[in-house]
Amino acid sequence: MQIGFIGLGNMGGPMAANLAAAGHEVTGFDPVAPYPDGVTPAKSGKDAARGRDVVITMLPDGPILRAVAADIMGVMTKGAVLLDCSTVDVDSARAVAADAEAMGLRPLDAPVSGGVGGASAGTLTFMVGGSDDAFKTAAPLFEVMGQKAVHCGAYGDGQAAKICNNMILGVTMIATCEAFALADKLGLDRQAMFDVVSTSSGYSWSMNAYCPAPGIGPQSPADNGYRPGFAAELMLKDLRLSQQAAEAVDADTPTGQLARDLYERFVESEDGRGKDFSALLPRFEARSRG
Ligand code: NAD
Repeated sequence: MQIGFIGLGNMGGPMAANLAAAGHEVTGFDPVAPYPDGVTPAKSGKDAARGRDVVITMLPDGPILRAVAADIMGVMTKGAVLLDCSTVDVDSARAVAADAEAMGLRPLDAPVSGGVGGASAGTLTFMVGGSDDAFKTAAPLFEVMGQKAVHCGAYGDGQAAKICNNMILGVTMIATCEAFALADKLGLDRQAMFDVVSTSSGYSWSMNAYCPAPGIGPQSPADNGYRPGFAAELMLKDLRLSQQAAEAVDADTPTGQLARDLYERFVESEDGRGKDFSALLPRFEARSRG
């Protein structure tokens, strides 16, 4: 396929490189990031988008997505797929998709999980919102860039799935870290804590696959000085998006709100920026009640 790829940062760069390596003709644009091997540089977003079968965007946030989409939609071929893989607010995803549809394009929102490692290895999970036929067109690209693509429903539903998943992740990581800190103070051995919880009803991805205690469980950022991994500020971004969405639809999400507040404090007032989101464990360890 002829693909335009806009936003070649930490995630977009390796995703575009994988598409090129799989034999697709990829033309990319990014004002800052380097161009990966196999990707033909374009002079602008418009140049990257003009005449392509699929245009993929992988951008920092909703306002930038809205600006880029407004810039390129007019030059895109009618019927082309506009595939946004960024994590953005549900309102921006739905607004961009509605505009794209009105201009004869086929929009999909397809945020990912799997991080930079998954982007490089081509093992991302895509959570996709949009029409069946657009999903079918993009399916071969999801296969190259990822290991799984779930068609969640109409456009915006991909972003909805992503922020609900990451709200659970943030909350369970906090619970796992505070439980380890409590177990420490109770004198319970960390390995024993892991062996029990990972096979009992407290198990979760945070405990079993990404254990925040160094030297316990499978390799995780805790074993690497809490270097990300998934940075605390990216978790904060997703928790803010989930609260923004919850406010918009009047959903009661008290632990999601607490998780947002805690990561906000950790990133903005403490030393959490640049650390993995599991670095809440040493934070709790160093604190006392109250
Ligand atoms: P990044 O900042 O490394 O990349 C974003 C790129 O967009 C940058 O290179 C920037 O120059 C480019 N950009 C900004 N404005 C542009 C414009 N007008 N035109 C073209 N390019 C423009 O961020 P990232 O880590 O690659 O993340 C991208 C998206 O993926 C974000 O929405 C993020 O939340 C999401 N995400 C990231 C991860 C992760 O682990 N990094 C995991 C899942 C989802």
